This record gives sequence, structure tokens and C-alpha cells, in this order.
Amino acid sequence: MAEVTLELDLPEGIAIRGYERHAEGHAFEVDWPWPERCRCGQCGHEEDARIELKNTMYVVRDLDLWGQPGFLVYQPPMPKCSRCGHRQHLETPFKRPHVTYSYRFEREVLRSLIGSTEEDVARRFGISAETVRRIVENQLGDRERIDPGRTITDIGLDEISLKKRHKLYVTILTDLSDPEHPQVLAVARGKDRAAAETCLNRLSPGQRRQVRTHRIDMSRAYARACGERLPQSRAVVDRFHVARHLGKVVDGLRKKSRVPSSDP
Ligand SMILES: [Zn+2]
Repeated sequence: MAEVTLELDLPEGIAIRGYERHAEGHAFEVDWPWPERCRCGQCGHEEDARIELKNTMYVVRDLDLWGQPGFLVYQPPMPKCSRCGHRQHLETPFKRPHVTYSYRFEREVLRSLIGSTEEDVARRFGISAETVRRIVENQLGDRERIDPGRTITDIGLDEISLKKRHKLYVTILTDLSDPEHPQVLAVARGKDRAAAETCLNRLSPGQRRQVRTHRIDMSRAYARACGERLPQSRAVVDRFHVARHLGKVVDGLRKKSRVPSSDP
């Protein structure tokens, strides 16, 4: 019998209770510790949580596994208020309220937008371009602190642009310390120096001094922000960024040398 070991790297506190393979995907039934006390969202009454499970399964999109979509599945725990009878949803540690994708999935979508278009990313994950945009907006609204104890030696700053409907430019700060697992650290609206500074300011002064290299777009605005905020870091030009720059140049050449169309 073949045995497969999976490294799932789930957020802390989340346990896997089951696995089921679906036609083109993988579903993991998950569980997490519930709070002991609960406060009613309707009448404000606080008491020991009286939790019942909703009689249905919720499915949340998570990271891909072997190139196929992964899902987290759970039966929503719902505390019931003993005073007014109101039942409410418990917050989950792996996703924000009212969405059907995990925080990890959001960050993966964000990262995939680097060097790609929203249409390509939407196609790749099988979601709509509107969902891609909503995910970016969600991430822009977050003010989660970067763990000041985290050691970050290499970072990347990239600009992404969403062009459907109104234009949206976003700057993404990525942790490249482990090149195999780049991780999004911060995002900010815009693609100027201020946006780069907003991202870099999320690192503590100590963390900024630990950064050894930064990989950035050809943008001068980012270079200035890094020069000022990362005193020990040197700029590294990597293949990816050069390739993108070359792509732009080649595109420009193509446009210039385009043969006039003979169509009427
Ligand atoms: Zn109540």
C-alpha cells in the first residue's frame, strides 16, 4: 500500500479531523479551539459559551495541493445566547468573516499578482477577477503587525496593478529570506515612495537593520525608500525583475516596429 506524507503547515491551533478527495481537489475537515466565554452580538449578554454545531458543512478555499485546489471544511460552531436565544457565528482563525477563502489563500493570490495580471491569476485559481480585486482590497484594509521577533534578511518590493474597472496600484513587501517560500509581509495602496515607506515601516527598526538585500522593481521611488529605511541592505537585481523589465522593452519595440495593418 502506498503511503503519502503531507506537510500542510496549517495555522497554529487548527487540527485536521478528516480528509476527503474530491474530483479535482482536496478537502480537509478542520477544527479549532473554541472560546470559553461568549458575548451575544444581539443583547450583549456574556456567559459561558453554549455552542451548538450548525447542521451543515462550510467549505473554504485554501492553498493548492499538487496543483489542485485545496479546501478547508468545517461545521460552523454557533454559540446560543441563553437570554435572548440569538445564535451567532464564531469567528474562525483561518479566514475573515463573510468570505469563502482562507487568509493564506488571500496572500497566495496577492503574491501571484506579482508579474501577472488579475485575469491570469483569476484563471489560475478558478475565481473571478472581482474576487481577486476584493482579496487585494481586504489585504489593504488589514493592519496586522509583523511579528517583531521574526528574522528577515531579504525582502522584495513589487508593484502590482489591477486594471479592470478603475485602476488600482498596490505595493507589496515580500519576505524572501527563505527563497523557496516567499511570504507577503505587507501591502500598501499606490506605487510611489510613500507606499514603499508604508510597507517598510511595518518592520521594526531592529528588523530593518537586519535586512541584507532588497530586490526591487526598476522603480527609483522604491530604491530611495529602501536606501533610507534599510541601512545595511544592498539592492540585488534578480533575473525575475530583469526579465520583467526586458519584457517591457521588448513590448515597446514590438509596438514601435508594428507593421501597419492592411485590414480596412
Ligand atoms: Zn442575547
